[in-house]
Amino acid sequence: MSSSIAQLAQALRERKTSATELTGQAIAAAKNRAGLNALITLDETGALAAAGRADAVLARDGASALAGIPFAHKDIFCTNGLRTTCASRMLNHFVPPYDATVVEKLAGAHAVSIGKANMDEFAMGSSNENSFHGPVKNPWDTARVPGGSSGGSAALVAAGVVPFATGTDTGGSIRQPAAFCGVTGLKPTYGRVSRFGMIAFASSLDCGGMLARGAEDCAHVLAAMAGHDVRDATSANRAVDDYVGALSKSLQGLRIGIAREYFGAGIDAGVGAAVQDSLKQYEKLGATLVDISLPNAALAIPAYYVIAPAEASSNLARYDGVRYGHRCADPKSLEDLYTRTRAEGFGAEVKRRILVGTYALSAGYYDAYYLRAQRVRRLIANDFGEAFKTVDVIAGPTTPTVAFKLGEKNADPLAMYAEDVNTVAVNLAGLPAISLPAGFSAGMPVGLQLIAPAFEEAHLLNAAHQFQLATDWHARTPEGAA
Ligand code: GLN
Repeated sequence: MSSSIAQLAQALRERKTSATELTGQAIAAAKNRAGLNALITLDETGALAAAGRADAVLARDGASALAGIPFAHKDIFCTNGLRTTCASRMLNHFVPPYDATVVEKLAGAHAVSIGKANMDEFAMGSSNENSFHGPVKNPWDTARVPGGSSGGSAALVAAGVVPFATGTDTGGSIRQPAAFCGVTGLKPTYGRVSRFGMIAFASSLDCGGMLARGAEDCAHVLAAMAGHDVRDATSANRAVDDYVGALSKSLQGLRIGIAREYFGAGIDAGVGAAVQDSLKQYEKLGATLVDISLPNAALAIPAYYVIAPAEASSNLARYDGVRYGHRCADPKSLEDLYTRTRAEGFGAEVKRRILVGTYALSAGYYDAYYLRAQRVRRLIANDFGEAFKTVDVIAGPTTPTVAFKLGEKNADPLAMYAEDVNTVAVNLAGLPAISLPAGFSAGMPVGLQLIAPAFEEAHLLNAAHQFQLATDWHARTPEGAA
């Protein structure tokens, strides 16, 4: 499905197609591309029932832009009555008794979920190789990773199975797979999208968002997803902007900050060149480039890899074999139940994070690691605050390299963590950021990241959309795309 949401919505309104027909196409495409391993659960029955309801809504006037549009949910969002695994053995048979707010909102807009997308276990990873259900393959080159942790979502959109998919971003998990798969991914401001029913990884960093082919589609999806939620105390109680209405503004006078730290050593030459070319395109659209500095950028990875594991170790303490999730056979004692349940239920990367996080939070080391990381977090947020006094958005490569080979980095956690060098600071500061396709290097897609001040998603989507009106990188599809 290479048409945009707006084009599909138009075709639905003109009765050129139906929700049932589009859903049937998406299901067929999902089966056809089963080799990508992008879906954990294909919910054919649920999808066709939802499509029938969407068709009934579409028969009347006033249906939303998403009515009848097929999509997939990252398997981190709880779906009432439908297995939600978070790609962990721990939750392999977990069937939630309620819907996440994001699930409820998209269902309320009559978008049609075809199932649950593969991901890294508990959203920990940058390659989708940490899934209990096996790695996802990149549709541009199936020997390469799609990025992570929302790798299934990115692969499904890139392969044209669905026009959009939900994702979550704790340190780059929407933007990095978007970059690796040549699609657009938006991480909203912390608190803009409810976290209720989104399985927790690091609660002060986790953000729900989406991946789609272009920014216009992201605007439609964000309009449906965003908003205050009384069930999430960290959700922002402020009005939702008109994201679609803001898309058409001119970029004349837009000040784009070029942070020298985002173009430093470690950025692949081909990636840097594609990003520089896309910045020239922005100049043609009327933007001016301003050199800026984010002096504490190099501290983002160390701070993130203390804070995120610390919060994860606390959040994952709930998987104890007592209330829900995996439970070991024949526990001999309470301690035996805890230890064997957790030893069996969690994969290697999740265990590594729990160990690091528990250590960082322990009485003797709290000040040295966790508290210090929180102070660094403040410095990083202040750097952005300073920069936004003189620029409207900050641009740079989303990732230092294009998608790497399956197996290339998963034996070396530090090399894997280094992938997140340009994305994690945004989460530490709670800001919105978008990754958009900006060319190719060695035949693989390159992502351009734009970062904006808090709650300026409309500005980001506008800047990305105007670029996409002038370029066609986001419209390119890999061979075999549906
Ligand atoms: N790659 C980062 C990590 O493994 C980010 C993950 C995410 O955003 N969920 O922590």
